[in-house]
Amino acid sequence: MSSSTQTLMPTYTRLPVAFRRGRGAWLEDTDGRQYLDALSGIAVCNLGHAHPAVAEAVAGQAHTLVHTSNLYEIPHQQALGDRLAQLSGLEQVFFANSGAEANEAAIKLARLYGHHRGVDQPEILVAENAFHGRTLGALAATGNTRAQTGFGPLPGGFVRVPYDDIPAIEQAASTNTVAVFVEPIQGEGGIVVPHDGYLSRLRALCDRHGWLLMLDEVQAGVGRTGYWFGHQHEGVRPDVITLAKALANGVPIGACLAGGAAAGVLGPGSHGTTFGGNPLATRAATAVLDTINEEGLMARAETLGSRIRGGFAQALDGRPNIVDIRGRGLMIGIELAEPCPALVQQALDEGVLINVTAGSVVRLLPPMILSDAEADRIVDRLAPLIAATATAQVSPAATA
Ligand SMILES: *Cc1c(COP(=O)(O)O)cnc(C)c1O
Repeated sequence: MSSSTQTLMPTYTRLPVAFRRGRGAWLEDTDGRQYLDALSGIAVCNLGHAHPAVAEAVAGQAHTLVHTSNLYEIPHQQALGDRLAQLSGLEQVFFANSGAEANEAAIKLARLYGHHRGVDQPEILVAENAFHGRTLGALAATGNTRAQTGFGPLPGGFVRVPYDDIPAIEQAASTNTVAVFVEPIQGEGGIVVPHDGYLSRLRALCDRHGWLLMLDEVQAGVGRTGYWFGHQHEGVRPDVITLAKALANGVPIGACLAGGAAAGVLGPGSHGTTFGGNPLATRAATAVLDTINEEGLMARAETLGSRIRGGFAQALDGRPNIVDIRGRGLMIGIELAEPCPALVQQALDEGVLINVTAGSVVRLLPPMILSDAEADRIVDRLAPLIAATATAQVSPAATA
């Protein structure tokens, strides 16, 4: 790795490893070393690497037609739109190229919805510790002052409330409120699973006041939690859902789905994007949805998630510095009492790719195609590291 890294803006602090190929849950680095991928490129490669069905769809489409324009009909986009509508119960889809862009579409939709109802200064209720992306609107909705610092003035019209707190929503609402926008499970915020009933209470509140219930499913969506969408375990129907990350297993795509009162809000000329929903990305996404279905991967995500969480619960039982082991399906967080950023490199040295988010939460987002043996290997390799970190970081404070 002798390349001149100064040419890349250092917006990411990169680990000193580069991968040259992948297969299933495994990545091979440029020296030929193998790593078990327990992160999936941050919830993107849910089907693992080089999945034959996705590879075939991408290669086949690349040889046929990559891009035309939204000035024309795009049959693969139509097919994917129909499919997502059927899976979500929402009527309409707008295709973008990333999570942030899908969220920008949702934010614009909510504002226009407000204006149509005579609200001149529409406000969207958003959550503390939320993550919605890095574009200005999405950044303003994001509840992380570190991500926002230096980028003001940010767009207004967002009112922040604690996550998983219904009374806070009722208190913060005003006649300008037009929507509530939250993640069904907070991802970057630390794999925060709200209490049962949170989403259905939000639904009832939104119904009572005519607000849109908008869910950012960019990380939780597309099967990872054991359902197509993270909200489906509560059986609620949101008005807006945003998707991206796993939708095409690594081919850039985003989607903003709208139903009920949110359907029909964005009309001709109101929004657009050049690449959005092109034949390559949408055909890849259809292959992803087909594969999840055909291979029964949602049930598998649920089983694997329980297995991994149970494995850690057993291996870390009684450790004083483990605050919580939580998650749904293959969205897994292990919260430590102390910040644990060093674990990422230690796990890499052990041949496992993980992430730490919110300072002290080990975040695992392994692919849904994992075998039982691979799931167990994640636990076996990581549990001793996590246990040792807890001990190492607790003792100086204890002796101070
Ligand atoms: C990753 C993420 C985003 C941003 O997606 P990008 O594709 O990086 O723009 C938005 N919301 C959630 C919940 C995410 O996890």
